[in-house]
Amino acid sequence: MGRERVSSRAMIIAIDGPAGAGKSTVARALARALDLSFLDTGAMYRAVTLAVLRAGAAVEDGEACGVIARATRVDIAPDGEVLLDGVPSGEAVRSPRVDEAVSPVSAHPEVRREVVPVQRAVAARGRGVVAEGRDTTTTVFPDADHKFYLAATPAERARRRAAQIGQPERAVEIEGELARRDRLDSTRATSPLTLAPDAEVVETDGLSVDEVVAALLARLAEGGGAD
Ligand code: C5P
Repeated sequence: MGRERVSSRAMIIAIDGPAGAGKSTVARALARALDLSFLDTGAMYRAVTLAVLRAGAAVEDGEACGVIARATRVDIAPDGEVLLDGVPSGEAVRSPRVDEAVSPVSAHPEVRREVVPVQRAVAARGRGVVAEGRDTTTTVFPDADHKFYLAATPAERARRRAAQIGQPERAVEIEGELARRDRLDSTRATSPLTLAPDAEVVETDGLSVDEVVAALLARLAEGGGAD
């Protein structure tokens, strides 16, 4: 665990939580504040999902999705952008088609088996990472130096997502979509969304991104979120 680690090892801060809790925005800002890299694990599953859709494979077919995941080079550029066979994937990984398909694709053990080792390899580079994603505190980095679980009510999460895409009027519809993804992600057999016993829960309702980042920095300074 963290205490036995030699000091030259990369620092890993893992941030978990449900869809729309602000994990990406907060993790990116925290990485910048600490001069660490940002590892967006969801973007890697989105990139594999894009490859699956482009190949025309069925998202329920774990074996086919696993073959595509193995054949696809997914990596993270130093600026945090996800690369699909060396090419920045840009906004294509945020399309509604990918939103819809990413939960079933990422639920396949055949896919996770390919993606998780890449996430660990990225984290071992340089000074370390702030990694965000719904199994980063449990499965990917169980020995992370610090673990946080960002919580927010479904209505707050939907409101933020809707504002983020510039469509505040879609908050109710988005709340339904988030609930659907939460359900799929929490009940699946492989790496479900769960709260790691040693993660520190941070309630974020009513807090701005800067306030959440400040709260995490304060907890880190106090040694909080440590495993
Ligand atoms: O974080 P983001 O919303 O981009 O993640 C998209 C989807 O990727 C999640 O809904 C989840 O199904 C999957 N995912 C995952 N494991 C992670 C990160 C994301 O299964 N570590």
